[in-house]
Amino acid sequence: MFNLIVQPESSDVDMNCRICGNSENNREHTVREMFFGTRETFRYLECGVCGTLQIHAVPDLRRYYRPKYYSFQLVRNDKTGKRSVRNYAARFIRRRAADWFCRSWKTTGHLSDIFFRLLLKPIGRVVVGYPDYLIQSSLDLGITRQSAILDVGAGAGATLEALRHFGFRRLTGVDPFLERDIVRENGIRLLKQSIDDLEGQFDLILANHSLEHTSEPVQTLKAMHRLLKPGHYAIIRMPVLSRAWRLFGVNWVQLDAPRHLFLFTVTTFSRLARDSGFEVKEISYDSTAFQFWGSQQYLRDIPLMDDRSHFTNPRGSSFTREEIASFEDEANRLNARAEGDQAVFYLCKK
Ligand SMILES: [Zn+2]
Repeated sequence: MFNLIVQPESSDVDMNCRICGNSENNREHTVREMFFGTRETFRYLECGVCGTLQIHAVPDLRRYYRPKYYSFQLVRNDKTGKRSVRNYAARFIRRRAADWFCRSWKTTGHLSDIFFRLLLKPIGRVVVGYPDYLIQSSLDLGITRQSAILDVGAGAGATLEALRHFGFRRLTGVDPFLERDIVRENGIRLLKQSIDDLEGQFDLILANHSLEHTSEPVQTLKAMHRLLKPGHYAIIRMPVLSRAWRLFGVNWVQLDAPRHLFLFTVTTFSRLARDSGFEVKEISYDSTAFQFWGSQQYLRDIPLMDDRSHFTNPRGSSFTREEIASFEDEANRLNARAEGDQAVFYLCKK
């Protein structure tokens, strides 16, 4: 299927890994900005010991978060029910569904499980948009619709809007790249600040593809631990170094220079989580066809926001529907083998 295997260009680099401190056998890679397609180059270091890929020097990132970047986040994270009918029946069903997803779904045994599976088909359209990672874990996440939920790196608030849609009420987001604090009419609070300055206690903390954007990931993990109630979960979704990185090297679409400052192996990130006081309860993989078509476009010098990109122009891109479907199949196979290029970490505060 892939004859495009590219070994990343590399040379030795004289810099210590910011995660483990190692200075030996580190390699340097030159990576281009290809989301917008400015093609500026950035130096990244790959640690010879812990494997972490990290930007050499953090540039002034503000100009790399234009509105289009956040609308991209909206598309990627948000399959919300904005398309679904806004009526009381739908709202009632969504709230009951959220209650099921929170509790009975896993804990009340076979009867409700069968009942819900039967019900899921007719109400499927109405419950579209409930975050998959809150359903697909076998863990009891210990939340209800009254839970206080924090989204770290909330951006435009897509994830919180999705949760609000299902009747969750105590929703807070933090993001230092927001223009200002925003309190929406529906009660969602979006705070322009670092998590380090935040106070309070939360029942669930989410970081949806945001930790890779922070210059101090370990400090952020510790802040999450501080803000979480004991026995509760932080759920962290992010790209991980796996097969797509080995296959595409510096053209791997989820490297996303210069916005992604750190990219971890699953092993190293799990160790950092444990060092921050968490128990790693579960890891799942939710990579998609994006890793293949996005990276192949970068190999062909086509930025994500280009007119020829499958992202902006799916019908006009060079990929056929069959190719995209086969990429999706391949992503599912990789996920099943724990080799997908993005993972979901379920971290419990002991
Ligand atoms: Zn290291």
